[in-house]
Amino acid sequence: MAILKIKKYPDPILREKCEEVKEVNEEIKKLVDDMIETMEKNDGAGLAAPQVGVLKRVIVVETEKGPVGFVNPKIVKKSKETVIEEEGCLSFPGLWLKIKRWKGVDIEALDGDGKKVKAENLLASILQHEIDHLDGILYIDRIGFCQRLKIRKKLKEYDAYR
Ligand SMILES: [Zn+2]
Repeated sequence: MAILKIKKYPDPILREKCEEVKEVNEEIKKLVDDMIETMEKNDGAGLAAPQVGVLKRVIVVETEKGPVGFVNPKIVKKSKETVIEEEGCLSFPGLWLKIKRWKGVDIEALDGDGKKVKAENLLASILQHEIDHLDGILYIDRIGFCQRLKIRKKLKEYDAYR
């Protein structure tokens, strides 16, 4: 296993759309393992492949039972209710935002061994955050005007560090 380098905003790779994984082969298994190690090393709750520079539909998330990898995750059902929770992102060090998400989602995906899995009603916010990354959508795209004004300076700082 290896710790991967995390791409930070405004790296343009974070805006790319990721490709479906055709087959969960050794390369993908290693990617899942490395992403889990990288997430844990950085105390993250989730990580998506583009954040480590790989444009494939792979995410890893922390669960009560430990870290899991999902390949080609798809949201197949959403709850009617929404929740607002505070989210962070390893590509935006130190930036916590309140984001409105579906309270529960069901997803279909392949697990790190290529088996079909269905996850119901769990980890909804983290999953939605990570799946967004696969389409080049970032949590700063999902905030309202007030929060946007508040973080304007912070976003400029990220630009300056580039
Ligand atoms: Zn993120």
